[in-house]
Amino acid sequence: MHKVATDDRGAIGTFFKACEAALGMDRVQALAQDRMAYTDQMGFDATAHEPAGAVAPRSVEELRQVVRLANAHEVALWPVSRGKNFGYGGAAPVLAGSVVVDLSGLKRIHEIDVKRGFCVVEPGVGFYDLYDELARLGHPLWMSVPGNAWGSVAGNALERGKGPQPYGDHGAQICGLEVMLADGSLVRTGTGAMAGSKTWHLSRDTYGPAWDQMFCQSNFGIVTRLGLWLMPAPEATLSMDYALAEPGDLARGVDAIYPLRQRGLIDHDPAWVSYVGIASFVGPRRTWYEGEGLLPEEVGAQIRRQLGIGWWNAQLNFYGHEEVIRAKARVVADALEKALGPRPEPRLWRQGDDFGASHAGIPSTRDMMMIDWYGGRGGHLGFSPILPADGALAQAQFERTRARFEAAGIDYYGAFSVGGRAIISINEILYDRDDVAMAKSVPVLMNRLIEDAAREGYAEYRTHIDAMDRVAATLDYGAREGGPGAMARLNALLKDAIDPNGILAPGKQGIWPARYREGGSARVLRP
Ligand code: ADP
Repeated sequence: MHKVATDDRGAIGTFFKACEAALGMDRVQALAQDRMAYTDQMGFDATAHEPAGAVAPRSVEELRQVVRLANAHEVALWPVSRGKNFGYGGAAPVLAGSVVVDLSGLKRIHEIDVKRGFCVVEPGVGFYDLYDELARLGHPLWMSVPGNAWGSVAGNALERGKGPQPYGDHGAQICGLEVMLADGSLVRTGTGAMAGSKTWHLSRDTYGPAWDQMFCQSNFGIVTRLGLWLMPAPEATLSMDYALAEPGDLARGVDAIYPLRQRGLIDHDPAWVSYVGIASFVGPRRTWYEGEGLLPEEVGAQIRRQLGIGWWNAQLNFYGHEEVIRAKARVVADALEKALGPRPEPRLWRQGDDFGASHAGIPSTRDMMMIDWYGGRGGHLGFSPILPADGALAQAQFERTRARFEAAGIDYYGAFSVGGRAIISINEILYDRDDVAMAKSVPVLMNRLIEDAAREGYAEYRTHIDAMDRVAATLDYGAREGGPGAMARLNALLKDAIDPNGILAPGKQGIWPARYREGGSARVLRP
């Protein structure tokens, strides 16, 4: 059952009117088409997470007014940066009837420090905006971008988004935030806590608890400014493509790579990507197969032959001085030869060559092509558990996941992003939203995958708004008599202290303020 924030006292209507009076008519979007625009574009049921409308402040001061009005009218807000969190809910709130706070109008790039390698952005700055600014400066720093780079630098980092570049753990690059708390006050994290700090975005060392990560995947505040470390432009890049022919080769592929990654011989987390994902960037499934049901193995084999790819495919990239990366690539290729076969021809890029041929994070929306796999109004749903860096365990997780996909009638598409100690396994459930059978099977599949992973001791690194409670419930260490785990209790304790009226993103990551918790308060909003 979805919870709904209701308006039985007309509070939301009054709130919108007050926002219009304070901010101007054009900052409030609350018509039926606005509600649809801000709902989950990839959900089967658009109403499940339909917001009451949206408010779009253009400055921190305007945001403060929105937050104050939300407190006064007890309205639930759902802040988004650019609202392109596709596969995880887009712009839509967990709690239907919440008001989306669209921060895409806060678009200032406050700073790019070329020498120290960081930028400071407002929430509305997109990957394309930052890229354009870096290009204008001659690309002195390189970004890391997610596969679909439509969204915002800040929103993606706050969700701990990933990219295949060396700085690809975007949440880990955050250094220094400015955050609006639920009472409308601003706090600065890290050494930014000192007025006039000279090191806010330079060091994560600070005095006392470090709060950057407390505002990631949380509903404790609204981030209004985000410092992010960027990679100094390397002198050259070198890349090598590897392919594995059989689904059963994943274990070998993982075991070969993670020790090299751990030793710093590979500069990023290379991903073993299954061929359906790569094919989906080339064309919809009907390019190769018009039939019903799962993609037959012989068609899969034909696709792989035609595209010249393996069942699993990984690209290893090296960044830096040519001498150094050539040496690293040689050591890596030697080490991989036994497990992965002959050394691929490395491709070298040097400063001065066509920038598009480098391995810089160049924003693209190509990955969105995957939603056309089945035709119709497409969608994708991400299932992203964290696994140990271990070939046999990765193989077992893949086999389990693929069996679940196939039982649901969905072609398997997954990528295993191999770090030195852990793997992020990003599975994309592709579907046609108008397919009645898929509308039934996909939510069941998602539940099974979450249950399977929890049984193995694997938590997710991120999830769709629809699954936030379920994933939160898998964090059950310290649960007492069927109640929530110790982490849920701590989160609830903090939530109630930091946001006493429960206005900020109720339900995000399964964290509900008291008024929406069962038995949490007498004042539960009812439909
Ligand atoms: P993007 O457009 O970059 O893909 P979104 O704007 O959709 O990302 O943000 C993804 C999620 O991150 C949102 O649903 C919200 O929960 C959270 N979020 C985004 N921006 C902020 C922010 N400025 N402050 C707090 N949380 C945020």
